[in-house]
Amino acid sequence: MPNRKLQFKLVTTAMLTLGLSLCHWATAQEAHFVSKKIADGLYVLQGEGGFTGGNIAISVGEDGVVMIDDSMPPFLDKLKKAIADIAGKPVDFLINTHVHGDHTGNNAAFGKGSTHIVAHKNLRERLKTMKIDDKPTPASALPVITFDSEINFHLNAGEIQVRHVAHAHTDGDAVIYFKDLNVLHTGDVLFNGLFPYVDLDNGGTVNGYIAAQKNLYEHTDAQTIVIPGHGPIGTREDLKASYTMLEEIQALVKKLVDEGKSEDEIVELNPLKAYHDKWNWGFITTERMTRTLYKDLTTK
Ligand SMILES: [Zn+2]
Repeated sequence: MPNRKLQFKLVTTAMLTLGLSLCHWATAQEAHFVSKKIADGLYVLQGEGGFTGGNIAISVGEDGVVMIDDSMPPFLDKLKKAIADIAGKPVDFLINTHVHGDHTGNNAAFGKGSTHIVAHKNLRERLKTMKIDDKPTPASALPVITFDSEINFHLNAGEIQVRHVAHAHTDGDAVIYFKDLNVLHTGDVLFNGLFPYVDLDNGGTVNGYIAAQKNLYEHTDAQTIVIPGHGPIGTREDLKASYTMLEEIQALVKKLVDEGKSEDEIVELNPLKAYHDKWNWGFITTERMTRTLYKDLTTK
């Protein structure tokens, strides 16, 4: 889907560093949210016409509104409008899947109101020390409820299971399973159809990423609707395609590392070339994926 890949090119490095201004590049776009009902009381917001951040899920019911991830500051008004259209009431609980600014960018705004922010304990620690536009993270952006391995919500006539997967995309990842609806939100533990971003600087590891995807595959079934952090909504087969690819490309790079090749020599040899057309995209190019695999294999 070339259009989707083009959109991702706009992300550039802003996803990497919260310190970068997310505003100047995003407001220039005509990007907006498209909302889609995927199950009873469950909606997904995805960007169209440009990059609006990670895929957002909103659960609506008589007990309240639960939202997963919250885009970036330039899209706050559009997000609020989408929430009003879907739910007609404010968000009670906001669950952050991980620390990156395209998933937590509006925490401060929601935290200032009546929304309770929920996240893995490591996310809170990392967010506390991060800077946004050179300013320290405001207290209202920090989660007020944290968990270690899991936390469950019993709301809207169903169970929402929030689980930590260790050292995958970062070291503070949460995956969310709407048990009664059989819907999984993976956060950035899945970039559907794209080379994944494994954030080694924030505690992510390639083996942890593969293990998390396998674990999610094993705990879902053929009917499970899988909402990735980025890319189209899919099924557990998309998880399998991703970890199969990752195991293969990791082995290709490992072989060259074992032969004593340097990072640049490996990039030059381009061991991932057969995977380029299917998985390369603007943010995680084939070269960047190769360098990530090299660093991951050599810094343990
Ligand atoms: Zn991310």
